[in-house]
Amino acid sequence: MKKRVVEINHLTKTYNMYPNPTARLKEALHPKRKSYHEIFYALNDVNVHVNQGEMVGFIGENGSGKSTILKIITGVLTPTEGEVKIDGNIAALLELGSGFNPEYTGYDNIFLNGMVLGYSRDQMEDKIDDIINFADIGDHLYQPVKTYSSGMFVRLAFAIAINVDPEILIVDEALAVGDLEFQLKCMEKFTEFRNQGKTVLFVSHDVNAVRRFCDRVYWLKNGVVEAEGETMEITEEYENFLKKKSIKTVDREKNKVEEHSALDIVEVKSATLLDEEMNPIDLVVQDSKVFVKVEYEVNDPSIKHPVLGVAIRTVNNQYVCGLNTLLDETEIPWKKGLNTFYIEYPKMALLGGEYYFDVALFEENATVPFVYKTKYITMFITGKYVGEGIVVLDHEWKGSVQ
Ligand code: ADP
Ligand code: MG
Repeated sequence: MKKRVVEINHLTKTYNMYPNPTARLKEALHPKRKSYHEIFYALNDVNVHVNQGEMVGFIGENGSGKSTILKIITGVLTPTEGEVKIDGNIAALLELGSGFNPEYTGYDNIFLNGMVLGYSRDQMEDKIDDIINFADIGDHLYQPVKTYSSGMFVRLAFAIAINVDPEILIVDEALAVGDLEFQLKCMEKFTEFRNQGKTVLFVSHDVNAVRRFCDRVYWLKNGVVEAEGETMEITEEYENFLKKKSIKTVDREKNKVEEHSALDIVEVKSATLLDEEMNPIDLVVQDSKVFVKVEYEVNDPSIKHPVLGVAIRTVNNQYVCGLNTLLDETEIPWKKGLNTFYIEYPKMALLGGEYYFDVALFEENATVPFVYKTKYITMFITGKYVGEGIVVLDHEWKGSVQ
């Protein structure tokens, strides 16, 4: 059995919220200790268990309590109630700022941060070259940290965190900052960590990053664990929640200004799977050309650069291929009334089985959907037994038979 390295039971963190600055004073001075505050639950009865070698993700909207949990695990914050047991030394990459003195140079902060993590100056001397190389911030190393960009800061903090050789690494939203090359370097390190059987707790708003790294996920909502389990399952549940919510939000905002809901901006009238001759089908021969025709009725023609998205999923809800016109830099028609647009797949290389299409129309960033139709149409693929998995990639076997 794997060793349990983090065990959190019934963890609650509350803050006293005062409606205004004087309320706090009034409360302190009140002869009968009349209460002027309300209690806010940043975390409410949270249970989290992590075994050695697991990579565990924490997702959830802003303010849901992710950072609070990580800060309590690392000891930066104390719990109001509950039990926190940690077995192993931790290195943490918390939100920007913690563990550094802005007045010191980067170089001095390496030692300072090392001390916070429980390493002596000698131990840090041994690691300093690796840290400097990984951070790769040049002469900025000898400038005060307060002059750093957030990118430089993260590079240094990350370089320290992963080179002190912790048993448990805690990363809060940090990878989002920094250039692609650095992100790749960090991912390599993560993989190395995983292979060494280390434990990683990872907070990110980037669901895809969580999917790449985490074995298991906790979804936090308003300080409570809303769901916990296998990465794909929980992240999809979370994404569906976000989609529904954003429709409602657009809905509400639209109602305020124009008295019609997001669903009124545009409506998907139909989506149809077509063969090469443009005949409707639902049975597709593997590798043949197909089209999906989408008809939508626009009520609000003032929307700028709307985006059409079409995604394919397996019956198990596995995301096979999501495409949209923003990624492909294509404008779609958007006149008042009925519009039609097609996506062509020259070669439907999916393996035999049943699949679904999602169809959605979004605002210009392809983030907030005006309308999102899940499993809107079905496609059955028939074909020979030519491989296993979901897709047959174009391929060729090479080499000579002597
Ligand atoms: P997340 O990291 O998921 O965005 P946080 O853990 O940072 O969320 O915060 C959880 C909630 O606790 C938020 O609503 C935040 O406003 C609140 N909070 C955090 N620190 C304090 C504080 N010192 N006083 C009052 N509320 C706080
Ligand atoms: Mg946070």
